[in-house]
Amino acid sequence: MISVKSKTELEKMRKAGIIAGNALHFGGQSIKAGMTTFELDRIIHDYIVKNGAKPSFLGYGGFPGSACISINDQVIHGIPSKKVRIKEGDIVSIDVGAYIDGFHGDTAYTFPVGKIPEDAKQLLKVTEESLYLGIEQAVVGNRIGDIGHAVEEHCTGHGFGVVTKYIGHGVGRNLHESPEVPNYGKPGHGPRLVAGMTIAIEPMINAVGADVRVLKDGWTVLTKSGSLSAHFEHTVAITPDGPVLLTKPTL
Ligand code: MG
Repeated sequence: MISVKSKTELEKMRKAGIIAGNALHFGGQSIKAGMTTFELDRIIHDYIVKNGAKPSFLGYGGFPGSACISINDQVIHGIPSKKVRIKEGDIVSIDVGAYIDGFHGDTAYTFPVGKIPEDAKQLLKVTEESLYLGIEQAVVGNRIGDIGHAVEEHCTGHGFGVVTKYIGHGVGRNLHESPEVPNYGKPGHGPRLVAGMTIAIEPMINAVGADVRVLKDGWTVLTKSGSLSAHFEHTVAITPDGPVLLTKPTL
């Protein structure tokens, strides 16, 4: 069942979303070549906790980190590690969730580390654009397929691979709830969007090919082709006044 949130519930979700968004922004600003993904995770963890929230991902399904940190050909769900050092020229995808007052916010961004190659820049640009094209479709009366179609068309139009094995989702009292929000779809298909729905739209886009594989750690998802991958995400409320970004940072 798709849950519809009241105005008060949306205010609580915005509170969770601000903490998640700010933690992501703060984490991104803290990235330095030479640091480990474990250190970066601690910075994000401490930010969330200092602001009175709980990291949504910590312990979720047994996940050991507070943020998912996925570098270069890693698509999503990278485990923060003392053995993984961030280098100049990397792209670092950080996915953060914060839980407070009974609600979650979920957001992701792929950060360039120093100077990155032109093709990497283009992947980040197109993936972020596709997130906002998807968000534009998150209006009352549209359907879930309109969102996925907008994301897919933009990314495939640039020759990139849209990951289909992992998708966006409803978010609220639970980190993952109905409906599913794929990054592909047919216009006019899927559940209808109504005011008060809250969804995480999160394009995961590979430079080459859509196929992915999972590392032996059971979590880290990589591109099968070995190409770079980018991930951008916002938690969005569908309202009579249009889409509202619940995870927009205020920092
Ligand atoms: Mg998500």
